Amino acid sequence: EFEMFLQPQVNIRTGKICGAEALVRWRHPTKGILVPAHFLSLFEDNGFITRLDSFMWEEACKYIAKLQERDIMLPISVNVSRRHIGETDIVDVLSSLVKKYGFENKYLEIEITESILIDSADKALQCINELKNMGIKLAIDDFGTGYSSLSYLNRFPADLLKIDKSFIDKINANESSKQYVAAMISIGHIMGLDVISEGVETDEQIDALRSIGCDFIQGFVWGRPLSEEDAEKLIDSIY
Ligand code: C2E
Ligand code: CA
Ligand code: CA
Repeated sequence: EFEMFLQPQVNIRTGKICGAEALVRWRHPTKGILVPAHFLSLFEDNGFITRLDSFMWEEACKYIAKLQERDIMLPISVNVSRRHIGETDIVDVLSSLVKKYGFENKYLEIEITESILIDSADKALQCINELKNMGIKLAIDDFGTGYSSLSYLNRFPADLLKIDKSFIDKINANESSKQYVAAMISIGHIMGLDVISEGVETDEQIDALRSIGCDFIQGFVWGRPLSEEDAEKLIDSIY
């Protein structure tokens, strides 16, 4: 009953799709399609989350390989739960998946929230260094919502900074909200990272983000996350 949905990530300068995030959906027999807010905390508590994550990683790897068979080289990012970092050898799981589906490691990206990185710092750093050495990409998710010190965050060899939706919601409320996001983008760039904004819902937000140098955007402005089938139709219409 679980399915991978995909949300496109778009290059703000070219307007081209540059990747997608894999998001889990539960096609419940009686309740319809459920989003993670309805079940994720339960699965975090009962431990099922690690199996669900691994399932999603496999679906994402399968999809990357399927696209590559058609010469479409699109990276996909997957989410990693707090529990997973602490309890499982995610390096083993991810490296065997990439091998199984036979694509270059750089097409798989993992998203870890700022707060998980800080709470599980030592364990996370060790895993992330290993994943980085393999060439898997790392995004710091929900940036700006944790209590991290920047010098601490700087220890992580990330590739991408994802600015949390809460900042994007307010970006056009007043000039200082926009400059706040501009400062976050500058921090990302100074750390040598690309910056993506998530939760972008309007053209005005895109304009504001473009004017302050954001690299990529993701959000409902292009519609809701897509089923695999719909994502393929979209990709077909572009490639
Ligand atoms: P996230 O990683 O921050 O993912 C982004 C969430 O924001 C997604 O919600 C996405 O649908 C939503 N979103 C994107 N653009 C917009 C927008 O313009 N407006 C609004 N209102 N929302 C937007 P979703 O799919 O409900 O996922 C919620 C959270 O559940 C995710 O937040 C992520 O932390 C978690 N999650 C989703 N799939 C997985 C998974 O496979 N494994 C794990 N561990 N967590 C997952
Ligand atoms: Ca995410
Ligand atoms: Ca996020």
